[in-house]
Amino acid sequence: MERKPEEALDALCAHYRVERPALRIGLPKGEKRALGCYVHRERTIYMSSEEYMFDPYVLIHEFYHHLRHVGGKHRGTERHARDFALSFLRNAQSGDGRSDGSS
Ligand SMILES: [Zn+2]
Repeated sequence: MERKPEEALDALCAHYRVERPALRIGLPKGEKRALGCYVHRERTIYMSSEEYMFDPYVLIHEFYHHLRHVGGKHRGTERHARDFALSFLRNAQSGDGRSDGSS
């Protein structure tokens, strides 16, 4: 998935059956330090630079916030976003690349 963030996002959305968020390069105003950022009003994932578009950890982390948001709940905690991304990547490395979402 390293070179294809758009496809990775499509796969994640299909798997979790959620609407696809928009994906943009460059952080929104006021955000300076983050590698990535999810703006729920816009349903948009912002990546700080093109470089991080290809970092699956950042993409999946921000996708988690989208998933929680469209699920009608709060955006989720940073700790859960981190755990979600790490376990997703762990599952993608072993086995067939699918996450069963059980954690
Ligand atoms: Zn986060």
